Amino acid sequence: MSNCAIVGINWGDEGKGRMVDLLTEKYDIVIRYQGGGNAGHTVINEYGKFALHLLPSGVFRPGVVNILGNGVALDPENLLKEIVDVSSKGVSITPENLMISDRASLLLPWHRELDALEEARLADKKYGSTKQGIAPFYSDKYQKKTVLAGELFYPDELRAHLKDLLEWKNLTISRVYGAQTHTMNEIELWLSDYCEKIKPFVRNTHSFLKKAQSEGKNILFEAQLGALRDLDYGIYPYTTSSNAVASYAPVGSGLPGAKLDEVIGVVKAYSTCVGEGPFTCEWFGREAQELRDAGFEYGAKTGRPRRVGPIDIVATRYGVEIQGATDIALTKLDVLSYMDKIPLCTHYIVNGELTDEFPFPAALSEASPVFAYMDGWKTDISRCRTWDELPEAARNYVMFIEKEIGAHIKYVSVGPERDSIIIR
Ligand code: GDP
Repeated sequence: MSNCAIVGINWGDEGKGRMVDLLTEKYDIVIRYQGGGNAGHTVINEYGKFALHLLPSGVFRPGVVNILGNGVALDPENLLKEIVDVSSKGVSITPENLMISDRASLLLPWHRELDALEEARLADKKYGSTKQGIAPFYSDKYQKKTVLAGELFYPDELRAHLKDLLEWKNLTISRVYGAQTHTMNEIELWLSDYCEKIKPFVRNTHSFLKKAQSEGKNILFEAQLGALRDLDYGIYPYTTSSNAVASYAPVGSGLPGAKLDEVIGVVKAYSTCVGEGPFTCEWFGREAQELRDAGFEYGAKTGRPRRVGPIDIVATRYGVEIQGATDIALTKLDVLSYMDKIPLCTHYIVNGELTDEFPFPAALSEASPVFAYMDGWKTDISRCRTWDELPEAARNYVMFIEKEIGAHIKYVSVGPERDSIIIR
């Protein structure tokens, strides 16, 4: 038996979906343990190209059981749409290969709306939310003001519970934001249109996992976003509202006592970031546009152009440390093939002092990057499948990063397709 988490080391969008899709071959179970429909894991395989938002990236592998754990923000409406969409492309999704934890809390009809209302109120101070309701959802979960998926099996209690929540939430919607309140009729429609349809997938996944563990099954934990967006360890308040760190995987998945044997940290060969907040290595203008176009850096969920820049070793080393990564997958190395010289941010200057330590969030606005430059390789590497096939300059780039971040780069990805990978 082996437990492995695949996590983001940077700001998200590192290519976790493609790594999970690749590695699920060796696993029996794939679990999403945090976050919600604000993710956009891109997977390209024999069924086509998918941007998965809530579904675990193991849904394409026959025989793999996919679980949405208790730590996720379970949005019945978006989940159902995603199941219908992915199924329409020939992927079988049934209660045998998709299970929803009965302890997952439901994202309620007002959460997405509250997200949008608050971003509008903040105006030019907004967080850059994807407006999927994630922040209002998690605040309500911790206030014990949402319902568990398993309550769908207790219709009378569920309706009484939702009625209380509705009365409470309408106070905020009308008095704080002056917006239209919700009614029990809308809730009934939401229950019949979406919740009833996802109900067949809901079960006690803890007991399923306990049994699977005792049978020695291999389990993969799939994270959303990256270390720098983790609620406790990221660039607060420009974080997400859940824990994206590997150490949360056992808690959010339904196996709180599980130990992780492996943590694969996914690092992009350059930096990208969606949304607001400090981004020390950011490029602007022509060089940013060139990199954005080379890597097609547009949000999988929102289509927003991503902010881009050279690899940030300072932030990446910090991400590796807080994820406890045992191995690294370096993705999108092929994208850098057009560059003559490749910059790498090795240090920051913060208040006139040179440092290689990632600063406290509030100090990041004072940080400026210090770059080293390495030779580019100026040749298409997307067909390389072994380490030796890579040009020397590309190998030097990988080895320099490896030495600086202090973690073994086991996988080098040179294209989005499943087999565009070099394993060292
Ligand atoms: P995730 O949320 O971490 O899964 O990352 P995203 O799916 O948002 O972003 C990764 C993007 O890069 C997707 O469009 C992938 O298809 C693509 N991708 C992943 N690995 C590679 C790679 O090695 N090379 C290239 N060119 N594209 C890649």
